Amino acid sequence: MTDTQQKNEVRIASPGRINLIGEHIDYNGGFVLPAAIDKRIYFHLKKNNTHTAKIYSKNMDKEFSFSLENVHPSKTEWHNYILGVVHHIHQLKPNSIQGFDCDIESNLPLGSGVSSSAALECGIAKGLNELFSIGLTDLEIITISRDAEHSFVGTKCGIMDQFAVVKGKKDHLLLLNCDTLEHRLIKADFGDYQIILLNTNVSHNLATSEYNNRREECENALKVIQEKYPNEKYLAQVSPEKVEEFKPNLSEKSFNRALYTSQEQQRTINATKALEQKDFKTFGELLYQSHEGLANLYEVSCTELDFLVNYTKNIPEVIGARMMGGGFGGCTLNLVHKDATAGFITKIEAAYKNEFNLTLTPIIVAIGDGVSIQY
Ligand code: ADP
Ligand code: MG
Repeated sequence: MTDTQQKNEVRIASPGRINLIGEHIDYNGGFVLPAAIDKRIYFHLKKNNTHTAKIYSKNMDKEFSFSLENVHPSKTEWHNYILGVVHHIHQLKPNSIQGFDCDIESNLPLGSGVSSSAALECGIAKGLNELFSIGLTDLEIITISRDAEHSFVGTKCGIMDQFAVVKGKKDHLLLLNCDTLEHRLIKADFGDYQIILLNTNVSHNLATSEYNNRREECENALKVIQEKYPNEKYLAQVSPEKVEEFKPNLSEKSFNRALYTSQEQQRTINATKALEQKDFKTFGELLYQSHEGLANLYEVSCTELDFLVNYTKNIPEVIGARMMGGGFGGCTLNLVHKDATAGFITKIEAAYKNEFNLTLTPIIVAIGDGVSIQY
């Protein structure tokens, strides 16, 4: 009998995600191309028959407790991902959560652009949903997790990370329309090429504030465009030609943000076509163009990321590279010929060490399933 009502404990695996192309596009209503990966956060949840939740993170080597009758934001950042999810489940399904203990253990790097944050939110949401038979749909788990990040953590993220973490499919990319939330599975076939992430191991503290700034800058640019074209709903959907019309009306920064967004939308559509046609060279070229746009027009890159991307341009076995995630640190994503991965990693690690006296962490990525219950 698998009556979920009688479950006293549940185990969950919640993956990180990559995004091939379509960066900073989700909150601009465009197309993105993410996938869940084979690195995960693991949760073990148990009912404890009280009105208190007790959370332990092995990665932090810390634990905290809170009363389910009084859920409010904490001064400790990582608590807020959990508290936010509990708060938003309470809003949607009052009194659905009773006391529980939760142990968390992860092999995802934190704060490196593979969205350990969404893995944490969606994992706890899925676990509570199972443990207490709350009946949340996948889409509710996605939006609760996104809302937790907005209201408790303070990052005004889009929907992509949570969507990829919940809806990811092994060996597939999700071509997600962030306006309608329709998505199509694209076979993750890169031919002779392998995805390798290179973690800069830097996280410049601009990340959250500049992320929210970019979102605001894009909203402002859209408002100006809408004065002339009221039917334009999202910035990513405005064509680059139309954006050009507004060069005299927008500040240089706003114009650049809008132009990047519009061009990145086209690149994502073209990159998906290239991938489906197994034209990996074009796909890789679009990754490089995406990085140029992120660095020069959107201004979310940093010296370390630029160094790594530029370095690969002299290595013929690498056909594309770009920064991935919010920016100001984290990882680059690289498409590297399978026969050349070991040599490439050794060379670029040494160059990075020499340039910044920092350690580079390579992450070889396979594409896995979304958040799941472990038996
Ligand atoms: P990213 O989502 O790219 O990993 P963020 O800065 O958005 O980067 O999220 C990282 C934060 O998520 C961490 O600083 C921490 O607060 C929280 N977090 C992620 N994984 C864990 C974990 N295993 N235990 C506790 N907190 C975690
Ligand atoms: Mg995050």
